[in-house]
Amino acid sequence: TLSDRLTATFKNLRGKGRLSEADVAATVREIRTALLEADVALPVVKQFTEAVRERALGAEVSGALNPAQQVVKIVNDELVAVLGGQTRRIQYAKNPPTVIMLAGLQGAGKTTLAGKLALSLRSEGHTPLLVAADLQRPNAVTQLQVVGERAGVPVFAPEKGNQGSDPDATGLGDPVKVSRDGVAEAAARQHDVVIIDTAGRLGIDTVLMQQAADIRTAVQPDEVLFVIDAMIGQDAVNTAHAFLEGVDFTGVVLTKLDGDARGGAALSVATVTGRPIMFASTGEKLEDFEVFHPDRMASRILDMGDVMTLIEQAEKAFDADQAQKMARKFVDEEEFTFDDFLAQMQAVKQMGSLKKMLGMMPGMAQMKEQLDNIDEREFDRVEAMVQSMTPYERQHPKVINGSRRARIARGSGRSVSDVNELLTRLTEAQKMMKQMRRGMGGVPGMGNMP
Ligand code: GDP
Ligand code: MG
Repeated sequence: TLSDRLTATFKNLRGKGRLSEADVAATVREIRTALLEADVALPVVKQFTEAVRERALGAEVSGALNPAQQVVKIVNDELVAVLGGQTRRIQYAKNPPTVIMLAGLQGAGKTTLAGKLALSLRSEGHTPLLVAADLQRPNAVTQLQVVGERAGVPVFAPEKGNQGSDPDATGLGDPVKVSRDGVAEAAARQHDVVIIDTAGRLGIDTVLMQQAADIRTAVQPDEVLFVIDAMIGQDAVNTAHAFLEGVDFTGVVLTKLDGDARGGAALSVATVTGRPIMFASTGEKLEDFEVFHPDRMASRILDMGDVMTLIEQAEKAFDADQAQKMARKFVDEEEFTFDDFLAQMQAVKQMGSLKKMLGMMPGMAQMKEQLDNIDEREFDRVEAMVQSMTPYERQHPKVINGSRRARIARGSGRSVSDVNELLTRLTEAQKMMKQMRRGMGGVPGMGNMP
């Protein structure tokens, strides 16, 4: 997975203050490969990696994250932003009925989606009406009627009689008229939402576009949802472009996300059209329908599991306040004390509790290994000793003489030599701090245990 690859790329880069151009170039190469594997269209990949490169080059490496995590975070943030950031809901008309029109290629999943959307709206207390404006294929109306019945939602269709008897599309009626009549019917019968199912073609075609555009002009929908099959891969860009120009739409619905599509279509469509992805269709059943979540899709594209959650927790554990306090210590040349020691300890310990969670996540072998090396009982032992010290002793470790050492050992259930060892470690940490202070002006990384 991408996160595995990034971790490998950055294995030796811990402690760097800033990502070098070569580091960033290497990462961007990995991201490019991952995106192409996810079926993101090439121009979109280029645009995206360029944005990431710029941000990564300017980024300071934070104390809590290693460079790989830092770049993963940047990539993820950018992905979420491009995918629309926040979830966009249906905008209802001030004066009902709210008209929702579906558009897309044949087989994209429009009719299925019409049923799903109708069911979902109905469960929210709306009273939708489905309108069968796909008169291209004789059985299209019947298909919508079946779907409507399952959803428990009525379907407005052209008069029966000529339906199915004439395979010629025009013989089934005028889709524009049916749409207009459907909206009028909804208004008359107090349906608050109308969902218009339209015809698609196998490929982009001007007749289809014109028909959809005519329906749009006739009924002035509040929402036009462009329905696209996530498995369409590289073709997503062209198809989305054609519908944007030919019909225009207010939102996108991605279908067949239950398949092994890696979500590249989502990024392509979002980048090319700038329209929000509103819903996801994840199966053939009416219940297989969800509101689209940009953050989940970003994870899917990068195959990162919930690595973002982990990164956020790591940042929290690091704690910005503490970093500032540390920085002040540098400037003021204060001595590093046992209180600081304890604070660092607790930050690292918090990270240790992530171990369990990490075990369940894909592609996190590298980080898990590092956390495995943290012995949580060792923390407890050290903590017990520090807590057996008086506040004065913690701030002024030099006063800890032989009798005080014996008392601390007794109080924490450790041996005197354990206490001696701890004091040595603190002296070393203090020495290290002094060296760093002399060597550079920066703040020390919290990654190193004193
Ligand atoms: P339309 O031509 O755009 O109206 O597409 P349909 O709604 O008729 O769907 C075409 C085919 O895709 C049908 O066999 C559906 O059962 C199937 N389909 C639609 N949405 C999904 C989905 O989210 N997942 C899966 N696996 N199949 C779907
Ligand atoms: Mg259909």
